[in-house]
Amino acid sequence: MYWQPEIETLDPEALKALQLTRLRASLAQAARAPFYARRFAELGLDPGDIKSLDDLARLPFTTKNDLRAGYPYGLLAVEREQAVRLHASSGTTGTPTAVVHSAADLESWTQLVARSLYMAGLRASDVFQNLVGYGLFTGGLGMHYGAERLGCLVVPSGTGNSLRQVNLMRQLGTSAVHIIPSYAMRLLETFAELDLDPRKDSALRLAVIGAEPHSEDLRRRVEMGFGVTAINSYGLSEMNGPGVAMECPAQDGLHVWEDAYLVEIIDPDTLEPLPEGQVGELVMTTLDRQAMPLIRYRTRDLCSLLPGVCACGRTHRRLSRIAGRSDDMFILKGVNIYPMQVETVLMAYKEVGNTYLIHLTRRDHNDQMTVRVEVAEKARTMDAEEMSRLKKRIAAALKAELLVSAQVDLVAPGSLPRAEGKAQRLLDERGA
Ligand code: ADP
Ligand code: ZN
Repeated sequence: MYWQPEIETLDPEALKALQLTRLRASLAQAARAPFYARRFAELGLDPGDIKSLDDLARLPFTTKNDLRAGYPYGLLAVEREQAVRLHASSGTTGTPTAVVHSAADLESWTQLVARSLYMAGLRASDVFQNLVGYGLFTGGLGMHYGAERLGCLVVPSGTGNSLRQVNLMRQLGTSAVHIIPSYAMRLLETFAELDLDPRKDSALRLAVIGAEPHSEDLRRRVEMGFGVTAINSYGLSEMNGPGVAMECPAQDGLHVWEDAYLVEIIDPDTLEPLPEGQVGELVMTTLDRQAMPLIRYRTRDLCSLLPGVCACGRTHRRLSRIAGRSDDMFILKGVNIYPMQVETVLMAYKEVGNTYLIHLTRRDHNDQMTVRVEVAEKARTMDAEEMSRLKKRIAAALKAELLVSAQVDLVAPGSLPRAEGKAQRLLDERGA
């Protein structure tokens, strides 16, 4: 049932004790990095003073800007000779940040990914095709080594060339994939163009989807379209990459591995900790990293810690689905909006296709939001009147959810741009 039963089902009190031991070791290790040495000194902080998990609140946060300023080796806590691999974030929101790993770091990361994938349902008998970027992006090599550790036959097919991806799946008998959800929707189109149905014309049974925010409805579309179980996977390069948190088959929150990460949810404005169940910014501290320990790293990702225990028996707590990043938020006519709110409204309509784009413009000091929505292949035959009715329904639903009006444009399937990596959902052309 479990890949590492002792650790996955560790009694919560024992887990806390382990966290404290590891936190103290991590702080001592972090102090070897020039960045933390300076910061601790400035604050007159002796890592040895941290005697309980509650003392965590006395420690400073680490931000993405700290990592940028320290790029590439300012946060390194070991000699360069001990570092064996460097990864970088995708740079979705600006200059990328680098993370450096020792051999021991790679070993523990591999175990975390193996543990997560096993929990998702992956087994040694699976042919596992990894359809994400191999390179600086962590989703490629990270998932690769974890799945290899489980004994799967791993196909490192990388991104792009959808036709070849489909051919590989069919020739090799791929039973499980790791894929970015927006690209999964693109691949469904390729199957359709080839007059193939992945439910019949492939051996797929499991899709691990992650790396970008997506709604519950989009997950269900992946599941229905491919005939698979789709498991949500969360990670970020600053915390290794994949293997931070993943759903178990209950698909009710993502177990975050608390032996490797100390988790806090804070109010992003007051920086005060929030209780279970409340949505705020996820803050994480590495507990098991040598080369580049990070203390109270502000992920900018918004989620909550789910109360209660999971039926699967794992004691590590669960994160809610990530609602988006705090920097995805845009303000329209004074209202705060997240792209995921728009997606949630859109995906509820079966006439809506696979892709959408939120376009913001400004005219005579007036902000306008236009939501471009592809209609589904099956809805191609709608007449003008049906189209106009659908537009009105979507516009009304958006207004009800967002409290501001949006213009809705229905466009033909396949007409909006597709990304091979993370999808771009927002085009803000309002200028400064
Ligand atoms: P970048 O921050 O430049 O995109 P990464 O490649 O490290 O760099 O991506 C990590 C980020 O991707 C996370 O911080 C989060 O915003 C997003 N992400 C990853 N997995 C998920 C997921 N399952 N759901 C929502 N967002 C996710
Ligand atoms: Zn569970």
